[in-house]
Amino acid sequence: MFANPTLREHVRATAENRPGVYRMFGPGEELLYVGKSIRLRTRVLSYFRAPRGEKAWDLIRETARIEWDYVPNEFYALIREMKLIQELQPRFNVRHRRKRIYAFVKVTAEAAPRVLPVTRVAADGATYYGPFPRVKRLAHIVRELAQVLGLRDCPGTTPVFFDDQLEMFGSGQVPSCVRADLRTCLAPCCGRPRAAEYEAAVERARRFLEGRAEAPLRDLETLMQRASDEMNYEYAAVLRDRIDRLRGFRDELVAFRGRMEDLSFVYRVPGFAGDDRIYLIRRGRIRRELRHPKGRSGRARVARAIDEVFGETDLGPGALAPQEAAEILLVARWFRLKPKERRRTVEPDAWLQERRPA
Ligand code: SF4
Repeated sequence: MFANPTLREHVRATAENRPGVYRMFGPGEELLYVGKSIRLRTRVLSYFRAPRGEKAWDLIRETARIEWDYVPNEFYALIREMKLIQELQPRFNVRHRRKRIYAFVKVTAEAAPRVLPVTRVAADGATYYGPFPRVKRLAHIVRELAQVLGLRDCPGTTPVFFDDQLEMFGSGQVPSCVRADLRTCLAPCCGRPRAAEYEAAVERARRFLEGRAEAPLRDLETLMQRASDEMNYEYAAVLRDRIDRLRGFRDELVAFRGRMEDLSFVYRVPGFAGDDRIYLIRRGRIRRELRHPKGRSGRARVARAIDEVFGETDLGPGALAPQEAAEILLVARWFRLKPKERRRTVEPDAWLQERRPA
């Protein structure tokens, strides 16, 4: 089957060379592919010249219809393309693009909370921290964090109770796993810790995950020193490696927090044919897109939007869905690859001071 010449003529005759997002459909209206370009016409026509064996050649042979939307600029095209791919999962995007999975650390909302690596965020009352790109490594580190702090990692169905409740449940319960004997778990399965003691350990985990506390590292250093004093060098070396891994993870957490905080501003992007736009970006997420104001009423409109976006309660780094995480990472990448774009950004307060109509 060869690429459809009528389709090529249609693109040639109607598409314009301006930023846009295009969608390619198969004969049964199946969405095959979503793409973007700052020169849409040139980009789409290039598929018809693709050499045999390339992905573009396979794609155009299957394409029966192409539709597109023009967008004001490349930045918006990038975000729109990402959202469409996430939402619609076109076959050629999914098959040919390496799927990036992000992981989060979840602190469960249970009587004896657990700290778990997860790849999905749910509205279940738990707190989520992330996103983190390295899923396998995260699972390992989270297990170590739970061990250092004595938090359980058994199934959520394991019955738990606390020392303060022994009268209710009776003493003499036996631990359900070896971690109790190894003293790497406070063992609420047999009512060993007081409720406050377990909650304090959970709080230390939260603070560590927020990049605000070093307690787990200090605990490990004390243990390592003790092992070394007792000439148990093998165990000291194990602890040293664990400290290194947790420290690396802590550094990642702090750096990520910093990067997110740093991505809060008003971003002006010049658009095609003077269609300049303003994006209100808070913690790496695009909260609002507005036309660049030309007059007093336009400036008042932008000022109101800034008040709303930057004045609303920030749910913090934990309250993220994976799609939101993908958006943050995309925005972060945009500014990392195009550092000059930073010159187009301005602090919300500075914008209001300079431009809010009196
Ligand atoms: S010791 Fe008990 S509470 Fe801790 S992980 Fe094992 S089963 Fe769960």
